[in-house]
Amino acid sequence: MVWLLRKCEKCATYTLKEDKCPRCGGQVRSPHPAKFSMDDKYRRYRLIMKRMSGQNEEKPSA
Ligand SMILES: [Zn+2]
Repeated sequence: MVWLLRKCEKCATYTLKEDKCPRCGGQVRSPHPAKFSMDDKYRRYRLIMKRMSGQNEEKPSA
């Protein structure tokens, strides 16, 4: 679960602490985008690919 990692802005140490760096006490923040936005991006990508590739082959479901 790499997105749970935080990174210290001062010494660039990766930590699981959410409040402060265990090494220097500096401010920490997430180096990764939130998981939900990654999923949303992936879903949009799949939707675009589906529209581009499956227009003529897909049968109407109703
Ligand atoms: Zn630090």
